[in-house]
Amino acid sequence: MVTASPILSGPFAPAARLTDSYGRVIHDLRVSITDRCNYKCVYCRTGEAGPQYPELAIDEYLRLIRLFVSLGITKVRLTGGEPLLRRSLVDLVRELANLRTLTGEPLDLALTTNGHLLDSLAAPLKAAGLNRVTVSMDAVDAPTFERITRIPGSFQTVLGGVRAARAAGLTPLKINCVLLRGFNDDQIESFAHFARQEDVVVRFIEFMPLEEGRLWSPEIVVPLREIVKRIGRVLPLVELPPREAGETARRYGFTDGRGEIGIIAPVTQAFCGACSRVRLTSDGKIRTCLFSQVEHDLYGRLRAGESDQDLRDYIHRTVQGKEARHHIGEPGFLKPSRSMVHIGG
Ligand code: SF4
Repeated sequence: MVTASPILSGPFAPAARLTDSYGRVIHDLRVSITDRCNYKCVYCRTGEAGPQYPELAIDEYLRLIRLFVSLGITKVRLTGGEPLLRRSLVDLVRELANLRTLTGEPLDLALTTNGHLLDSLAAPLKAAGLNRVTVSMDAVDAPTFERITRIPGSFQTVLGGVRAARAAGLTPLKINCVLLRGFNDDQIESFAHFARQEDVVVRFIEFMPLEEGRLWSPEIVVPLREIVKRIGRVLPLVELPPREAGETARRYGFTDGRGEIGIIAPVTQAFCGACSRVRLTSDGKIRTCLFSQVEHDLYGRLRAGESDQDLRDYIHRTVQGKEARHHIGEPGFLKPSRSMVHIGG
């Protein structure tokens, strides 16, 4: 179903906004700009496999992202692998900051990083127009952190990056912590204190079956209810309303008003009904869902010389076929055709 508002009809109007066959409006695009990563987190890259997919040139990402923005995308999140490994990242951010949404607003520009290179890049990224960052941190003590990342000395480096990002004004600064029972579930209460001490929003994520190997099982997932109960015992919580429709995290404030946490619970409290996202992989394929079994080769069509209008029509048709939801834990559930490091968060 294609909806056309009055300002969008007529000969010069850009194509109509993106909606899928369930009526969900897609306004959030996640773009992986590399599947290279300088970390080997145990729950993500369980194998020794390295990067597998090519990267596009920065101006090719720009052309593809412009097409999505002309279709109503208002939020772009840059991901990876590790996006800070791309040398021309700051240039890409600067170009994206010049784009305007269909209503003439600047894009909401965000980035997800493991934080290893953030100390030196936070200020240049902010100056280029980046609004905010999310840093993946799965522990708040060095031994556990480095057991998970398998990179010695990484904890202090990332902590330095977090503080540099906050100082640069890349806020609200979010910390994503993927919880695995038996790996880092002992960090829950410490992370709640960390959120208050560092003035960051810590978001706990239920572990999804997106790893390279076969680590995932229902037993390894730490469910939302348990996280709320455990934190509530030490620091009482109150649930907060979502900031926007389609927000993936459930928000909780501390009853003393100092700080906030979030919980992203795709396994026990799925939020697919309000999903507003599609993804572009580092090699230019559209994934309409994190758990898609099929991909759509947008870049291949660009390389074949298709016009911008043909590419827009292709994006429209592709989004129409977006999956209703994931089927984690159900009989017949199939892991996606790529693992997380090759999709991007
Ligand atoms: S699993 Fe797919 S449909 Fe559900 S929220 Fe994630 S991307 Fe959206």
